Amino acid sequence: MLSASHRYFHAAADLLGLDAKVRNILLTPLRTVKVELVVEADDGSLLHHVGYRVQHNDRRGPMKGGLRYHPSVDEDHASALANLMTWKTAVVDLPFGGAKGGIDCDPAKLSLSELDRLTRAYVQQTKEILGPMLDIPAPDLNTDARVMGWIMDEYSKYHGFSPAVVTGKPLDLFGSPGRQDATGRGLAICVAEALQDEGRTTAGVTVALQGFGNVGSAAARELAAMGAKIVAVGDHAGGVARREGLDVGALARWVAEHRTVDGFPDAERIDRNAVLTWDADVLVPAAVEDVLTADNAKDVRAGLVVEGANAPTTPDADRILRERGVRVVPDILANAGGVTVSYFEWVQNIQAFRWDLERVHEELGRTMRRAYAAVRDLARERKVDMRTAAFALAIQRVGRAATSRNHLRKSVAF
Ligand code: NAD
Repeated sequence: MLSASHRYFHAAADLLGLDAKVRNILLTPLRTVKVELVVEADDGSLLHHVGYRVQHNDRRGPMKGGLRYHPSVDEDHASALANLMTWKTAVVDLPFGGAKGGIDCDPAKLSLSELDRLTRAYVQQTKEILGPMLDIPAPDLNTDARVMGWIMDEYSKYHGFSPAVVTGKPLDLFGSPGRQDATGRGLAICVAEALQDEGRTTAGVTVALQGFGNVGSAAARELAAMGAKIVAVGDHAGGVARREGLDVGALARWVAEHRTVDGFPDAERIDRNAVLTWDADVLVPAAVEDVLTADNAKDVRAGLVVEGANAPTTPDADRILRERGVRVVPDILANAGGVTVSYFEWVQNIQAFRWDLERVHEELGRTMRRAYAAVRDLARERKVDMRTAAFALAIQRVGRAATSRNHLRKSVAF
């Protein structure tokens, strides 16, 4: 994934004519922090883990990015994801930079109280580099609203009441309405906008979806509400299809009970990977990275791919899809609805004023449509694909902010 995001970055940097030194400046993280965490296990023994926070770029504002708890967390992975956050916040024009971090641990092997102690130890070691105007974590893999609440509580012990230090908090603890569904809703808006570019609407359009978790299920619900037919859904354990469209509400209830779409009645059972090449107008990969590869990209039947997951398309697959005329709305735009509502949560916390759900939806719609239009217009103007345009737009915005602050020589033109 590190090499993929760097390749996409360089394709955009080529378009902008940036030299090697400027590229290096834009790619190098501002600060990388590695901390040792030693806490007591429930049985009195010691737990020993390593935590990371990579702060990539702060030229456009405080840095923003998730905190994940997983054995695969390391400096390289956090660095690649922090980099992507810088471009993602810039592409939707949020006043934020990019960061990412996590703890190298397997939460399935930890009790709730052990997770609480580990989270608080992480905050104690990073409290000087986190802050509402510095770096604002959010939930990511294996972290949730409860963990964000612990972070706010621990940080506030040192810095006073600080709800804006973290987003994705529980609603009772100054979270924002609409955060849960935001990524799926933002993605559905991108699907509608992309169809509109072709003179079509979502009514009657067929959609195949990989992943029916937070992003996939919300996207399916929104798209179905817009009149689209969800004809195939696959997840880690299986796949289901129905030509006339699946009943998304019933599927969500099935998954809540069975943890998978597999076995859902009133649908044909299909191979879990068959969704990627299913006969549908739109394909939404919303599960894991690197699922569209050189092996299957030639078989993708959808004319439009809208990326819900981070990095679902390898650079080879991206090239094949482009050559075949398949349009791809890239992850840094299509799944930016979550960080956008995180931004709204931060705004509400700073102003100590709560918005209602209607206002969140309205502002999210406006932000996503504006970002989509900016990327599409740049793609048309420079005759490039939307991924290259999205990266180029983001790099331009970060570069112009850096130049205006005199962090880059004025002679660098963005
Ligand atoms: P989730 O854990 O809620 O759901 C993941 C889904 O993917 C599940 O349906 C799971 O069964 C399926 N899945 C897992 N492994 C699979 C495999 N090998 N093959 C097919 N399906 C598989 O996760 P989520 O929050 O919905 O996130 C999905 C993706 O979107 C991730 O790449 C995440 O980084 C990205 N993302 C999420 C958000 C957000 O707000 N949640 C924001 C931006 C990007």
